[in-house]
Amino acid sequence: MADTKKRGFRTTLSHTGRNSKHEHGFVNPPLSRGSTVLVPTVAERQALQAKARLGQRALTYGTGGSETHWALEDMMAAVEGGTRCYVVCTGLAAVTTPLLAWLKAGDHCLMPDHVYGPARNFCDGLLKRYGVETTYYRPDIDEAGIAALMRPNTTVVYTESPGSHTFEVQDVPAIARAAHAGGATFEVQDVPAIARAAHAHGAKVLMDNTWGIHHFQPFQHGVDVSIQAATKYAAGHSDILIGTITVNNDADWMTLHATARTLGQYASPDDCWLTLRGMRTMAVRLQAQMEAAIHVGHWLRQQPEVAQVLHPALPGAPGHEIWKRDFTGACSLFGVEFKPEFSPASTHKFVDALELFGIGASWGGYESLAVPTTGFITRAAGSGNFAGPIVRMHIGLEDVEDLTADLRQGLDVMRKSI
Ligand SMILES: *Cc1c(COP(=O)(O)O)cnc(C)c1O
Repeated sequence: MADTKKRGFRTTLSHTGRNSKHEHGFVNPPLSRGSTVLVPTVAERQALQAKARLGQRALTYGTGGSETHWALEDMMAAVEGGTRCYVVCTGLAAVTTPLLAWLKAGDHCLMPDHVYGPARNFCDGLLKRYGVETTYYRPDIDEAGIAALMRPNTTVVYTESPGSHTFEVQDVPAIARAAHAGGATFEVQDVPAIARAAHAHGAKVLMDNTWGIHHFQPFQHGVDVSIQAATKYAAGHSDILIGTITVNNDADWMTLHATARTLGQYASPDDCWLTLRGMRTMAVRLQAQMEAAIHVGHWLRQQPEVAQVLHPALPGAPGHEIWKRDFTGACSLFGVEFKPEFSPASTHKFVDALELFGIGASWGGYESLAVPTTGFITRAAGSGNFAGPIVRMHIGLEDVEDLTADLRQGLDVMRKSI
């Protein structure tokens, strides 16, 4: 179970998911690997299976997880402020599994227009084929806007804040209020029945909280299910794919657990162990990378080629006010919009010229990255229109002076290319 004691972020990261007395004195928990689990008697096996069916922790077979999985689950539940967490093989599996858990044929799903691309593909492809309809909404929608989009069959309202390409910050509390109210649209006079119907049919609010990790406490803002691509800052070293799904009550846990088990969702114990190890230093990495990103963001704002920096922690940046209201910190992933005189092709020259920034997907590692996003992202609800081309930057743990020097020489190459 998640640590319920109220402790600071760094203390939580240092002390959750380990028990040195139990581990013969070793600081870190052992790595448990296995498929078959042997038990002394048939009766004990049956008792363990009964526990597992109730969603409780019981070593019955590898797919049910082991102490290694549970240590990471406790850690992430504590970081996100939820009760239980399920670890899956990738961040994308952490997106698709709860969608499958809370949607069925005939249901309707609301998705923000800036959603992580593969989540959009899942809705437009597999979910559509299985009879689920998706409507995309503008990320800057307000409570009344969501309420207007709610249908009696809307069971999931998905959020991602800020969006990982264009960094629109969403008013998640307002969206959550509208989503929860939206279920109770039945014109029935029996109040207890209305209350039951509201609980039975109220839409669930899912959130991809990868950007906000810990700095946005999802369950304090009306979110029911929080998704983490733990591949990013949790793992932290660009060498693991892993995802987590966290909930905040037993009923949601049973729904999630049943679907994840049925689908055969699983993560390698080695990857869980390494992710837990990564999380021990996550607070200091996040702090250093946030500070570096803000430093580089301010520097970029002063460069004549730059129209704006899309990092919500920068005063005056899009979404800054909501970020200030709802977040306690930030990460080091942001966008740079160039002035319209620069073409997308010229930004490719800029990125190609950088020596310290790798060109590649993902983020949250210790190394800096840059990828052009203009022309590579899909929108359906008319959001995300920018006059100039955008490059997405991830700031790693390098010295910021080296990064800004590299960016300056890249900007010079870009300038000469037009
Ligand atoms: C990377 C990412 C994912 C998917 O994580 P993988 O582990 O790469 O599958 C999901 N959501 C967001 C916002 C991401 O950045």
